[in-house]
Amino acid sequence: MFVEFQVKTKNHSELIDISSKVQKIVNESNIRGGSCIVFIPHTTATITINENADPTVKTDILNKLDDLIPWDDNYKHLEGNSAAHLKASLFGNSEHIIIKGGNLLLGIWQGIYLAEFDGPRIRKVQVKLMEG
Ligand code: ZN
Repeated sequence: MFVEFQVKTKNHSELIDISSKVQKIVNESNIRGGSCIVFIPHTTATITINENADPTVKTDILNKLDDLIPWDDNYKHLEGNSAAHLKASLFGNSEHIIIKGGNLLLGIWQGIYLAEFDGPRIRKVQVKLMEG
């Protein structure tokens, strides 16, 4: 089963929890056991899994990325958004989550995030579910 949905980001950099959207796709599939790939077809936004309990974790991740990869740093890329490309490459474009008992088998503190690094934009997220 394949589903694509859109996320409208609101800030230049942000982490948006998409766990409930992905779980809803799993619920609607009626797949009880299998695996789920969450992929983003973009080069300046990405998918990552991290803590979704304490919101300061998101702030710390974004602030430290800004320290490590400043927006202006004599990059060659003429579009002017090399920092966003570099940040996206650190995370990769997808996450793979096990489905068990009809649920995404995330840890108790884990959430699936769309990480925006060059927003605001409308982003696509693609979800592939495999039963078995
Ligand atoms: Zn670019």
